[in-house]
Amino acid sequence: MTVLDYFKIITAIPRCSFKTQKMRDKIVDIAKSLGYKVQVDSSGNILCKKGNPKVCLQAHYDMVCIGDVENIELIEEGRILKTKNSTLGADNGMGMAMMFSSMEKFDDLECLFTNDEEVGLIGASNLELEITADKLLNLDGEEEKEIYVGCAGGIDVISRLELEYKALDNSEKIYQISAKNFVGGHSGVDIDKGIVSAIKALSAELVEHDVKLLHIEGGEFRNSIAKNAVAVVASKKEIKLKNRALHVEVVEYKKEYIKDGDKIIKAFHSFAQGVRGYDKKFDIPSTSINLGVVRIDGDVLEISCAARAMKSEDLHNISNETESFFQLIGCSTKQSDGHEPWVPDIGSFAMLIKGEFEKVYNDASFRAIHAGLECGILIQSQSKKIEAVAIGPTIRFPHSLREECDLDSVERIGKVVENIIEGL
Ligand SMILES: [Zn+2]
Repeated sequence: MTVLDYFKIITAIPRCSFKTQKMRDKIVDIAKSLGYKVQVDSSGNILCKKGNPKVCLQAHYDMVCIGDVENIELIEEGRILKTKNSTLGADNGMGMAMMFSSMEKFDDLECLFTNDEEVGLIGASNLELEITADKLLNLDGEEEKEIYVGCAGGIDVISRLELEYKALDNSEKIYQISAKNFVGGHSGVDIDKGIVSAIKALSAELVEHDVKLLHIEGGEFRNSIAKNAVAVVASKKEIKLKNRALHVEVVEYKKEYIKDGDKIIKAFHSFAQGVRGYDKKFDIPSTSINLGVVRIDGDVLEISCAARAMKSEDLHNISNETESFFQLIGCSTKQSDGHEPWVPDIGSFAMLIKGEFEKVYNDASFRAIHAGLECGILIQSQSKKIEAVAIGPTIRFPHSLREECDLDSVERIGKVVENIIEGL
C-alpha cells in the first residue's frame, strides 16, 4: 500500500489527544499483521520491532481535533490534500503512514508511535520503552527541506507573593487600564519576532503615573506571549494614557490597595522579557524567558514564566536568575522539572540524511528550533546515547481548519526515508 493509502486508513479513526485508544488498537493490529513484535507502555506509547533494527522511525499518533473529526472528508486539490470540515491530522498522520509503508517493505526496522504529544509531549516525557537502534528518525517535521538536529530545553519558573491590602481614602478615583488583543504568539518560535507582551506594555504605562495598585492580571499561557493584561489603580489625578494602544476607564472597585503594588509594577517593568542570547550558527535565539501569566488568586499573586535555552547551563542559569529576580520583591519561587535541551550534534547519521536530501534538494539545511521537540525529549529517557534527526513532508497551517499537506513532498520524503533505511 502507498503512504496515502495508509493515511486514509488512519484518517478513518478519530485520534484526538487523550482519546487515542481506538488508534492504539489499530496500530497494534497493523504492526502484528506485518510480523512486528509490539510493546505498549503505561502512557500508551507503542514500540514495534522486527529483525535487527539499525534505525527507529518515530511519530506521534494523537492529533489536534478541530471540527468534525469523526467524519473527516478529505479533498485533493491538485497535489494539495486538505479536508472539508476539520483539522487534517497530517501532523503527524503522514509520519505514521510513512512508518506503516516502511514496515511493509523492510525486515530490520523499529517504529515508535508516541501518545499525547499535542497536549504537552506527555508520551515522550513518560516513555518506558527501550529502543534497540542507536539512531532515531522522527517524522514530525513540517517543511520538507529542513533537517532538525536540535531543540531548546525548557523550565517553568513559578513565583508567588502573599499580598497585604490597605484601605484607600476617598480622595482618589479608581481606573481600569487594559492592554487588550495584542498580537500574542508562541514563547519559543515567536519570541524573536518583536511581539510586544501585553503585561510589559501595561507595566510600562503604569510606571508613568502616580498610582496605587488594586489589582493586576494578564497573559493566557506560560508558553505564549501575553495578549491581554489589565490593572485596576487608584489615582488622585485624572489618568491620561501615553500608550494609545491601551484603554482607560473609571470603574467601581473594592477600596483597598496592594501594599507593595509599586514594587510589583516596577518588577514587571524592569523584567527583561524575551530573547536573552542568540545562536548565530542556527540563526535562532539561544536563551529566552517569557513572562507568561500573572494572576491574583485570593491574597496570592502568582507569576509564571517559561525559560528556554539551547544549552543546559544557560537553561539553569536563566531559571535561577528569574527566581532571584522575583525573590527580590519578596516572592517564594519554584522551578518545574522541565526538560533538558537536545544539543545540536551533527554525527554520521545526520550526515547520511543530508547526503540523501542533497540527491533531491539543492538547498536542504540543518536546523535547530527554539522550542521543545518530541524526539529531543524522548532520547533523554534512553539508557544509551541515541543520535536523533527530525524531518517531514510540508504541512501548512497545522492545528487549524486550514491544515493542508503537499502530496509531492510526501512522495519525496517517503522515498528519502526508504533510502535512509537502505543506506544504513
Ligand atoms: Zn506534530
